[in-house]
Amino acid sequence: MASKDEENFLKLVLLLLKYGGRVLQDRIECELERQKQQTVSDFLEEYKHKILHLTLRYKKECCQKDCRSKNRAALNEQYLKCMFHIMEKKCCSSYMQECFCNLEPRADLDISFWDITLTSCLLLECDILTDQSQKQVIKNLRNHRNSRALLHRGTPSMGEEEFVKTWKEVSNAIKEVAEVFEPWYFKHYCDKIDKLKDGTLSTSDIEGCWKKIKDADFDKELYGNLPAHKDFTTSTEMENLAYYHSLRSTSLNRQIMMHGKGGTNVNSALEIDR
Ligand SMILES: [Zn+2]
Ligand SMILES: [Zn+2]
Repeated sequence: MASKDEENFLKLVLLLLKYGGRVLQDRIECELERQKQQTVSDFLEEYKHKILHLTLRYKKECCQKDCRSKNRAALNEQYLKCMFHIMEKKCCSSYMQECFCNLEPRADLDISFWDITLTSCLLLECDILTDQSQKQVIKNLRNHRNSRALLHRGTPSMGEEEFVKTWKEVSNAIKEVAEVFEPWYFKHYCDKIDKLKDGTLSTSDIEGCWKKIKDADFDKELYGNLPAHKDFTTSTEMENLAYYHSLRSTSLNRQIMMHGKGGTNVNSALEIDR
């Protein structure tokens, strides 16, 4: 039997990962369509050089001679596999160099599997949004995803008062991202979000939710059946959920053992949030 506090936490996880994730995916498609009548696949083709640099760290270089683009180290290189077929063929041979000219957008591209880290990064770093106030709207939502008060809180429960306050903040952040959509679609988001808040997660919903987390069905739902995702080493939403599940299943009083550090992922998750 899940407690009210645990249900609160699960509702917030669903709000953030499901609707927060989806609204950013929709926003990418919407902006590309409106501004450039471009598909996501066309966008990836056009921006593959820039996207590669988003994943490059420190002394790594791309394959373009005398390239002056800066390395951003904003995304783990594993994210490239969500966007591109990774070709064995490279135009360069140095291990310090990464080739972008042989990257091809995935033929089976499905951005419904992209997470908040990836979608927010593309929106902010790839000229999709240039208006500073609109960029801030995206950053606000991303900050919730990286917040120590939410996925990184260390204990999978939340009292009613904090829940009401946090729900308002996170749902407003999502609605702000959705505001540019057609009115009916904006309303669709608002309705779904209100329904989640006011509805009751049944015991079987909750157990099902934890089971999903445990079985990584949730993982597939978010990231797709891409085997590459199994190799993720840096922060993902799912690692945090798996961490919470391990806390819960080992019945360690659902207390944080690491004094608010919320697992090993916190630093890497915050790293991109400069
Ligand atoms: Zn370059
Ligand atoms: Zn190349």
